[in-house]
Amino acid sequence: MSRPTPNPTPTEQPFYDACQRGELQLQHCDDCQHVLFYPRTHCDACQGDSLSWRPASGKGVIATYTVVRRGVTADFPAPYIIALIDLAEGPRMMSQIIDAEPEALSSGLPVMIDFESWSDTITLPVFRLATGQTP
Ligand SMILES: [Zn+2]
Repeated sequence: MSRPTPNPTPTEQPFYDACQRGELQLQHCDDCQHVLFYPRTHCDACQGDSLSWRPASGKGVIATYTVVRRGVTADFPAPYIIALIDLAEGPRMMSQIIDAEPEALSSGLPVMIDFESWSDTITLPVFRLATGQTP
């Protein structure tokens, strides 16, 4: 069994290209300045289609999280932590928190992005607890 791998659409490809370079990029609406995630063809605030990719800070805070103690397959060694991250730029992203003890987590804690290779062509964003950073 091989692990599931994203198959990016043309709309999503710039996001994955940036992750491959170790950068987080988010779409910004040129009309209303809304910041989007996940990648879309139209702004989810004003429906405009003039969107630009820009680098993001990689900073966020934990909105909520769950500890998965039984992995669904051997490709997902448990325990692991799935979290909703409120990015500094506004969007909420589902991701994973790595190198953290579950007991050390709570909503509102600051996190910083990192990247993990998932396959030859896919690198995914993950987050670590940030130290010495105020939310
Ligand atoms: Zn807009």
